[in-house]
Amino acid sequence: MKIIMFGPPGVGKGTYSSRIAQKLGIVNISTGDIFREHLDRGTELGRRIESYMKKGKLVPDEIVANIMRRRLTQKDCEGGFILDGYPRTVTQAMALEDEKIDVIITLIVPDEILIAKCVARRICKDCGEIYNILNLDRTIEDVRYVVPSMSPQIEKKCDKCGGGLIQRIDDNPQMIKTRLEIYREQSKPVVKYYHGRIQFIEINMTGAVNLMVNVIMEKLTPILNKL
Ligand code: ADP
Ligand code: ZN
Repeated sequence: MKIIMFGPPGVGKGTYSSRIAQKLGIVNISTGDIFREHLDRGTELGRRIESYMKKGKLVPDEIVANIMRRRLTQKDCEGGFILDGYPRTVTQAMALEDEKIDVIITLIVPDEILIAKCVARRICKDCGEIYNILNLDRTIEDVRYVVPSMSPQIEKKCDKCGGGLIQRIDDNPQMIKTRLEIYREQSKPVVKYYHGRIQFIEINMTGAVNLMVNVIMEKLTPILNKL
């Protein structure tokens, strides 16, 4: 099964991709994680993408497509994969054409919540595990969003590896707004591009992570069974 996890910054693509990948026994590939690793290691690629990432802008299509082309030929992709954060432009979607994607899952929540969630996001500097210190309970346009915080057991320490938790440099209100604009202008057209080509799942992320994982799996299972 080949899945695209799609949605605006802060909606939870990373969290849900890793959980669903684990359930399905397939590999989870996050372009954001790949890029952050290059930044941390100070590689040649890291130096090329640094200015884009620090401004909350998209890394140029050519660079992303090259990296992903190589990544997707690795052995662990043979059983299928989830793409978290790719494709993010129509050009990238076209570059992925050969891969025969089965389904695109779009996660949605109102902007107001996205901004609050990004600001409260924390990640492990060592293993990349995602946490969120926001205890969300808000009603927007008659829809109630209740998402308990995903805080670590010990403050500022990763449950998985004991690493320190940090905030991403692009998770500040100003840059989140930039990223949301870019999402609307450059990434949203990807959904239109796939319309009529592959299966669609769209989910309003109103509840806790475990609950929403079940909702996604319920929608995914009939599609899986037909493959
Ligand atoms: P988010 O979805 O919260 O913005 P990601 O971790 O997916 O976070 O991405 C972080 C940054 O990495 C983006 O703002 C962008 O600079 C870069 N990036 C990730 N994926 C892509 C992509 N497919 N195309 C271009 N840039 C990307
Ligand atoms: Zn960790």
